[in-house]
Amino acid sequence: MNLITINWVLYLSVVLSMGSYAAAFTARWPIKNIYLWEKEAHALLLLPFNKQPPNKISVKRSHCFQCHHPLTWQDLIPLLSYLLLKGKCRYCKAAISYRYPSIEFLHLAFCLPLPWIFSDIYQLALHTLLISALLTATVIDLEYQLIPDECSIIALACALLINLSNNTLETSVLGMIVGYGLIYTLRWFYLTFKGQEGIGLGDAKIIAVLGAWLGLLGLPPLLLCASLSGILYTVLTNRSGAKYMAFGPFLIFSAMLVFYF
Ligand SMILES: [Zn+2]
Repeated sequence: MNLITINWVLYLSVVLSMGSYAAAFTARWPIKNIYLWEKEAHALLLLPFNKQPPNKISVKRSHCFQCHHPLTWQDLIPLLSYLLLKGKCRYCKAAISYRYPSIEFLHLAFCLPLPWIFSDIYQLALHTLLISALLTATVIDLEYQLIPDECSIIALACALLINLSNNTLETSVLGMIVGYGLIYTLRWFYLTFKGQEGIGLGDAKIIAVLGAWLGLLGLPPLLLCASLSGILYTVLTNRSGAKYMAFGPFLIFSAMLVFYF
């Protein structure tokens, strides 16, 4: 194997491992946080709370949700093990959820072009981590209409470091402030004049992150693309009467589009 092949194998392994961790995180983060919110609500109402705490995100070993058999390292690469095992658990043959290989496939699809764009390992690593954090936030937002602060903080740190090393920190900070300010103002107008939460604070934070990544000039195409795709989705799926809709995925995929094209 020559050096280029070794580098590619290494990079693909890192991306697949990150996709694997992201899939586990998207399954465990909501369970842990819903438990904590329930516990807090019971404490506020002075009610007894006897529910067992869920396992920590990074401590409990991954296992099959049907037979609870711990997974070996081969099973922890969902995309490969899913294909090799034809979508069934190695031990009990129960069907494996398609969300695990899907999250890993999304990681591959969005990270694979990066080594062609960045020969600098520092930029490559920061962009890979940033995209992984954004994809993780997308999945949780789609399923629970929540954007974890953990994802926003990691993505924001990567975005600022990327622009710091490119000497574009000024436009990055402006993009972050203007992006957050725009959504915060829109939210305030909705709350004041219509008495409803038009857009969540999680969306304001994610726009701040995307503004920090793409810079001030990246905000107009990002918001245009996200709004158009959101409207198109609402019309095509006939969801105009729906009370809640996750806007984070539209923002994040639009940011990827603006970044790559
Ligand atoms: Zn099983």
